[in-house]
Amino acid sequence: SPADVADIGVTGMAVMGSNLARNFARNGFKVALHNRSVGKTEKVMDDHSADGEFYPSESMSDFVASLQKPRVAIIMVKAGKPTDAVIDELASLMEEGDIIVDAGNALFGDTRRREADLREKGLHFVGSGVSGGEEGALNGPSIMPGGTKQSYERLGPMFEKISAHVDGEPCCTHVGADGAGHFVKMVHNGIEYADMQVISEAYDLMAKALGKGATEIGDVFAEWNKGDLESFLIEITAEVLHHTDVTSGKPFVDVILDRAAQKGTGAWTVQTALDLGVPVTGIAEATFARSVSGSTPQREAGRKVLPAEAQTLEIADEAQFIDDLQKALYAAKLVSYSQGFDEIAAGADEYGWDIDLGAMARIWRGGCIIRARFLNRITEAYERDAKLPLLLSDEYFTTEIAKCIPAWRRVVAFAAASGYPVPVFASTLSYYDAVRAERLPAALVQAQRDYFGAHTYQRVDAEGTFHVEWSEDR
Ligand code: NAP
Repeated sequence: SPADVADIGVTGMAVMGSNLARNFARNGFKVALHNRSVGKTEKVMDDHSADGEFYPSESMSDFVASLQKPRVAIIMVKAGKPTDAVIDELASLMEEGDIIVDAGNALFGDTRRREADLREKGLHFVGSGVSGGEEGALNGPSIMPGGTKQSYERLGPMFEKISAHVDGEPCCTHVGADGAGHFVKMVHNGIEYADMQVISEAYDLMAKALGKGATEIGDVFAEWNKGDLESFLIEITAEVLHHTDVTSGKPFVDVILDRAAQKGTGAWTVQTALDLGVPVTGIAEATFARSVSGSTPQREAGRKVLPAEAQTLEIADEAQFIDDLQKALYAAKLVSYSQGFDEIAAGADEYGWDIDLGAMARIWRGGCIIRARFLNRITEAYERDAKLPLLLSDEYFTTEIAKCIPAWRRVVAFAAASGYPVPVFASTLSYYDAVRAERLPAALVQAQRDYFGAHTYQRVDAEGTFHVEWSEDR
């Protein structure tokens, strides 16, 4: 490759990296390409050189030399050790002011560590969330870059151009310093887990309680996609349910083993929330629901001996039941998002990031997996009050959720009485009732703590910290 030509470079030519590189090229940028094994780079050149101007290199040093200064190199390789190895190699070849972007799914703590290391060398390190899978990477993802403001001045215009656009606005903005971008991408994925699980709970109730087949349930989701629930995940749910398995001729969903896998971003979201003390119960239950599904020996043991002792309630009005499910789904979703935004706010507090919460909802409207119509409402809520302590307490959402509550309670009560698991429907409703409660039984927990551990307590009628000498009192 000639020197000093490319606007931007991508190393890692697997599915995500090659699609991202093609997206840059299609948008008129000159793109340097590199991959550890040369074959993948050659394949991109063979199949896609018509997409635009590519500058492939076999060695990392040629790759770096082909970049215009200040250089921008995006890493799209396997997360973890491979990413560290590639960062080290790039850093040894780069100069002060150059920018290294990790666009893979890194844990934000790793990004903070890498950023600090590279800052000492005078390099900018940008951890950037990229959502939307392979399709998004090629046609316009939602992009969540962290790092310095200075690096965003160089990167921002290119990233905004290749990102998805909604109402003329790019689904990309500078999230905040160091690991902020990967943090927000992590919470995005956690919310995605909750959305997927609650959708599957609605499906499950329609299948088991109404005895509906996949195609019919697909019709219901297709209908829901025309209203408040309109979103990518509802849309693809309808498509998946309408899909027929080629080999068996059965509905596709019916031939899939009921064991959900996970790559870890849901668990990261929950672990981080536990560390920060933020109750993301919807996301946590969704993550655990995948674990339950994969607990094969436990399920085998449980299936054999555990009685249901349930009274499957009669559903008098099927249309009413489906309408209840739609409302319960919307309410549970609002709680999951509210909890997710609480986690972002808490992360921003803890790590000193200046994150515009409304802008996060805005850049999730397109390109990413949780893209949805109602995200506009979240942006508007934070525009009304940037320091909103609870998303659900915004006037729009209180009105919306009020319309759903009776239906939501009926769904959870029905599922409990009938013996159907609804971890996200139920846990989000419990959270809703807890966060609006005048008084919680935490008072009793404090009393117990004071009893056995002299952990002290505070009073409703006096300032200060108190302790009862329980042994004398007994
Ligand atoms: P991947 O399967 O995660 O990784 C394969 C790539 O990593 C190959 O280019 C491989 O090079 C390279 N690699 C592995 N070990 C390496 C090492 N030690 N040194 C240098 N290169 C090494 O690829 P992917 O699915 O395209 O994902 C890339 C990143 O994007 C990951 O962090 C992933 O979590 C994230 N992501 C993926 C999706 C998705 O939908 N797949 C969505 C969002 C984010 P060789 O060809 O030489 O083996």
